[in-house]
Amino acid sequence: MVTQNFTNIIKNVNIALKQRGNKPGISSDVKVLGVTKNHSTAVIREAIAAGITAIGENRIQEALSKYEELGAIAEWHLIGHLQTNKVKQAVPVFDLIHSVDSERLAVEIDKAAGKINKRQNVLIQVNVAGEETKFGVKSKEVTALARFINNLENVRLAGLMTIAPFYEQPEAARPVFRELYQLFNELKAENLANVKLDYLSMGMTNDYMAAIEEGANLVRIGTGLFGTRKYN
Ligand SMILES: *Cc1c(COP(=O)(O)O)cnc(C)c1O
Repeated sequence: MVTQNFTNIIKNVNIALKQRGNKPGISSDVKVLGVTKNHSTAVIREAIAAGITAIGENRIQEALSKYEELGAIAEWHLIGHLQTNKVKQAVPVFDLIHSVDSERLAVEIDKAAGKINKRQNVLIQVNVAGEETKFGVKSKEVTALARFINNLENVRLAGLMTIAPFYEQPEAARPVFRELYQLFNELKAENLANVKLDYLSMGMTNDYMAAIEEGANLVRIGTGLFGTRKYN
């Protein structure tokens, strides 16, 4: 099941890449993150067997218990909100934290990473659409936070992330993706010394093709790979 779904998604990724043509500033090497929240470790093993190399989780507690069982069998990405009091637990586990949205959180990550001699890769989460229910900095706050992170020894800013509002028609999310790509390029032009802008994390099951057409190279897919989630 997962193998078939992954094959179809890769096909769509390539269709979207063809459609997008040249996008300066971003690699066209698209990484498909398998979002396994609310799924078992058996599902994670299945994902890896299918060829998925990066796993996304949105809750620390759940991710930690899965990591305890599986270890570093793939890249682990944190895609959910991170509370400062959970940072110490998160830093040893995650290769990439997608959800940095405050100086205070960045400082805590810097401290925790320094203690274990790690340079923690992070993305700034941007609330492009300004939805009240969502985390993330406003578009106009991105540069200031990036400059701040640039001065932290144990944190490396690796790109930007957004969660578009849910629309029935993925086309409706396109302006959000377009704006994040533009912010990404504006940030590149700042030429911050310790920043390496590799990733534009945007697009989920419903809208990943539109996101890739607008510049995404890291798409976060749950339902499309693993079916609907059971919440209890
Ligand atoms: C759950 C989640 C996803 C995956 O959503 P699907 O619609 O199931 O693909 C992607 N990104 C974030 C931040 C999520 O929390």
